[in-house]
Amino acid sequence: TAKRASEEQQKRNKKKQNPKPRNAVTIAVSSRTLFNMEEERKLFKEQGLEKYVAYQKEHESEPLRPGPAFPFVKALMNVNDRLRQLYPGEEELFDIVLMTNNHAQVGVRLINSIKHYDLAIERFCMTGGRSPIGYLKAYMTNLYLSKDAEKVTEAIEEGIAAATMFNQDVQDMQSQLSETQLRVAFDGDGVLFSDESEIIFKQEGLDAFLTNEQRLENQPLAEGPLKCFLEALGKLQRKFYAKNENCPIRTYLVTSRGADSSGARVLKTLRSWGLEIDEALFLAGAPKAPLLQKIKPHIFFDDQMCHIEKARKKGTISAHVPYGIAQKYDNKGKLIETPPKPE
Ligand SMILES: [Mg+2]
Repeated sequence: TAKRASEEQQKRNKKKQNPKPRNAVTIAVSSRTLFNMEEERKLFKEQGLEKYVAYQKEHESEPLRPGPAFPFVKALMNVNDRLRQLYPGEEELFDIVLMTNNHAQVGVRLINSIKHYDLAIERFCMTGGRSPIGYLKAYMTNLYLSKDAEKVTEAIEEGIAAATMFNQDVQDMQSQLSETQLRVAFDGDGVLFSDESEIIFKQEGLDAFLTNEQRLENQPLAEGPLKCFLEALGKLQRKFYAKNENCPIRTYLVTSRGADSSGARVLKTLRSWGLEIDEALFLAGAPKAPLLQKIKPHIFFDDQMCHIEKARKKGTISAHVPYGIAQKYDNKGKLIETPPKPE
């Protein structure tokens, strides 16, 4: 039985073996997106670091509650399990890096929580208050999720796909999400694509936007901040297609564009990149939230806070991409900054 036990341990370790960053699809998540640490955060703010660390040590055997990125990370690991079944020894997998600013003593509670939920996360990056950008680059990060909008903005400016997550009670939500399929929903303009057309829409209105999109139908849009992440998902999807397997990754485009008037340009852009999206939903200005309720994605990315707010209220796990002209508008869609007028 001792031999059996050691074999079992070896099997477990093998399962946790991490791929090399250049082969993997690396997802960096902050501790506060993976776990719900609101109460602890409050304690830190009100009573200071010492009390906070003491509290975390006292509770270190008590697992943290799931945070907004938790269902997404769980779904990534299910995909990894499927990939390992199909391709033993596979290195093209999702690799999760936990980014934390936390005190090293808090690391024990994080590790215990990871074990409790059986999450295969081996890579920890304790940044000790330093900017995470250097680490994100070193790990060749394909997606970075954090609750800190400033860090996310900095990452996007450095060309790393990134999004901000918010407090969301995912504990009840989890039972409604697919356990066998990772579902990722993307907005188009300002997320997969640049904000070049969004600028025209915001500054010159719908008619000017439509005229522009029809005129430039055959000219691909420039890449947006999350294009590379869609590309990485596509790379893993093809591994399932190659074996004629049901694909456990499904991608959705959820855009306010209309199919007839301005949809062709985005489809042609994706085609020019050699990328495919499983479902493209053109809403022609209709609200996104009810549709997202049907899709039930593990994560939905949008650059406009007004869409994020509505989606969150309807129970969709949402992540904000702080990029482009949309950042000049508040969550009701009103202009925050007046653009400088020409002389
Ligand atoms: Mg957008």
